[in-house]
Amino acid sequence: MEREWNLAEVSDGKVYSSSDMAKVGCNDCKGCSACCRNMGQSIVLDPYDVYQLAVGQNQSFQELLATSVELNVVEGLILPNLKMQETSKSCYYLNEQGRCRIHSIRPGMCRMFPLGRVYENDTFQYFLQIHECKAEQKTKVKIRQWLGVSDLKRYENFISDWHYFLKKYQNQAMKGMYDEGALKQLNMRILNVFYLTPYDRNSDFYEEYETRKCSFR
Ligand code: SF4
Ligand code: SF4
Repeated sequence: MEREWNLAEVSDGKVYSSSDMAKVGCNDCKGCSACCRNMGQSIVLDPYDVYQLAVGQNQSFQELLATSVELNVVEGLILPNLKMQETSKSCYYLNEQGRCRIHSIRPGMCRMFPLGRVYENDTFQYFLQIHECKAEQKTKVKIRQWLGVSDLKRYENFISDWHYFLKKYQNQAMKGMYDEGALKQLNMRILNVFYLTPYDRNSDFYEEYETRKCSFR
């Protein structure tokens, strides 16, 4: 989310860093799986999400596309998102007990919910979406702990970097700066370079991402 959105309407009016505490604790979601259902195309996946899903389940991106992931247009570019199942409208990874089957490798948007990100000045902060989580009595939790991401500093640097990298092309696409053929080519390059080409499970993700981004220019 960019700053021009009216944060006051959807949040408690504050922004947070990962060192802050926020009212996100929801009693381990007991009896609730609302944010794993009816999410439409909103759980967009970044390359780290796909790396985690692919490596964690020993699947290729094409195999993910056959089951849990689909492609849609996000601000002019084709990107992957978690697919809601046709009949149940629930995430492919939600089990019959209403729990996430891939909790340890769940995507970044699932990890931070009900937090969102607000981007400004080449970085981002978190904000609390006050209308989204269905739990009533929320407790304060340190955001770093809530996210549960190892190497958080590098992860957050990657999140900013990916956002602004994409934003440049999304802005150009939305302004109509590409004809149909050029836009198709750009989309194929982004998908190929950052998603379709398998990541090496033995190498460092962030280094590999940097190498791929350099090769993209
Ligand atoms: S809506 Fe809140 S309580 Fe329900 S599953 Fe999501 S995070 Fe947990
Ligand atoms: S990946 Fe897990 S946490 Fe995320 S929507 Fe699916 S079931 Fe829910």
